[in-house]
Amino acid sequence: MTSSSDRFVSTRDDAEPPALHTLEEAVLKGWADDGGMLMPSDLPSLTRAEIEAWRGCSYKEVCHKILAMFTDASVISRGELGDILDGAFDDGAFDIDEVVRIKAVKDSSSSPSSSSSPSLHVAELWHGPTLAFKDLSMRVLCGYMEKLLEKRNGRLNLLVGTSGDTGASAIEGVIGKERLSVTVLYPSPEFSSITLEQEYETVVHAKAENVAVICVEGNSDDLDVPMEAVFSDLEFKSRFSLTSVNSVNVFRVLMQTVHYFYSYLQVVSPREEESACFYVPTGGGGHCSAGILAAQMGLPVHSVVACVNENDVLHTLISTGELESRREVVATLAPSMDISVPYNVERILFLLSKQNRAKVKQWMKRWKGEGGQKVDLTERERVSLAEELRLRSCSTSDKGISETIAKVYDENAYVIDPHTAVAVAAAFADCEIPTSNVVKIVMACAHPAKFSEAVSQSLGGNVPMSSWISEADKKHPAVADILNLRQRASAPTTLSEHDGVHHFKKGEDWTTKLKGLLASLL
Ligand SMILES: *Cc1c(COP(=O)(O)O)cnc(C)c1O
Repeated sequence: MTSSSDRFVSTRDDAEPPALHTLEEAVLKGWADDGGMLMPSDLPSLTRAEIEAWRGCSYKEVCHKILAMFTDASVISRGELGDILDGAFDDGAFDIDEVVRIKAVKDSSSSPSSSSSPSLHVAELWHGPTLAFKDLSMRVLCGYMEKLLEKRNGRLNLLVGTSGDTGASAIEGVIGKERLSVTVLYPSPEFSSITLEQEYETVVHAKAENVAVICVEGNSDDLDVPMEAVFSDLEFKSRFSLTSVNSVNVFRVLMQTVHYFYSYLQVVSPREEESACFYVPTGGGGHCSAGILAAQMGLPVHSVVACVNENDVLHTLISTGELESRREVVATLAPSMDISVPYNVERILFLLSKQNRAKVKQWMKRWKGEGGQKVDLTERERVSLAEELRLRSCSTSDKGISETIAKVYDENAYVIDPHTAVAVAAAFADCEIPTSNVVKIVMACAHPAKFSEAVSQSLGGNVPMSSWISEADKKHPAVADILNLRQRASAPTTLSEHDGVHHFKKGEDWTTKLKGLLASLL
């Protein structure tokens, strides 16, 4: 197992040899200077026996093992890494001690041979302060940044675009951090299907000293435009010490590999012939890129299934080899995945091409450049996505989401959120995997309370939220807040007028406005 820390490259660096960066540099940069995304150029490789030796480790211990393989101990010592993880997971931010819990779910329509064992295992990744899986990687990232900045006596300003959950999670991550501030752009509910609960969590700290929140009259792809323009102005980016904590930041993707290792160790047996198939709700492609990395690091993965809603650019790529450009975003019941530019596809293509950075640069120029055009993979490349990266995909409509929420509730008295439902639907429908020796694991990325209207309607015409949330979950502070919000005599329809929220209106030049706002705040 190698432990060289100078190993991160830009997906578009076509120099030979390419410039190498440490994890610390990659974390602070966010985007690579050439507009590409940072990726490990060589991955640690673990034997099955080494992975088996982690059985019994807590979630935090698995995080430590993964991060230690990428971090230079002379920059951040193993002890400091431990302190960062304690700060992320030990301060009562999660409502369960084990951080992540696995729930067995049955499917009555599956073959009788499997009726004795659960059909699938749902990894509840949402026990954090904002009820979304992003808390898991974001809290560690913010702690890691704060520690690096203490050593350098520096400051960093995070610029975040959100389709629903990322903003709240980043705000939670910087509260109480002295060296970090955050500016969040979120899509107005008039132009997206961000839920009232998601908006609430995004605006509730809008007046905190190191937080700025902007409501944008557009969808999540629209707000990426001024963000990318600001990040590509390298002089501005460096003058205001800006970085990205979207899944652009490679640290988030590395931390998400832990979801795979940990849940594997919880439910897959040590038998040599057994492996896991992961069903991953995804929009920007970050979480499924992490799954591919976990497999390449040696985790016994049968396949990673990228599960999308009706915004299916990634599914079209995986199933037909065609990467479409400039599609309109469709508002669905799973708003955190309403993305038509799944930018982590760049990471997937980097892995597919075996790090052919010149090729990735060409592909991206075509796809993301002026007047973007579609990219066609060759038949061989398309087959490699499945055979070498072990990547498959599935798309589920709003109707499928609702039916799946209802079915899981009827058969298990268990409520899942619409994003998790996209993945559960894919797992129920998957008949391509052998029924023995492959364990199905679903990544559950949010608590259903964040999407209460969609869930209540799916459970059969407005069943009130208080009747389907478990008593245990009602004790989670964020769930309690949401219940209060919904039980107000006149629940608002939007919170964009909340104190402290800035506004970007249609027709304005958002890039200029964003730069002006950042310059006035920082
Ligand atoms: C962010 C998010 C996703 C998608 O994550 P990707 O980074 O796009 O893979 C899925 N579900 C929920 C609830 C999310 O918040």
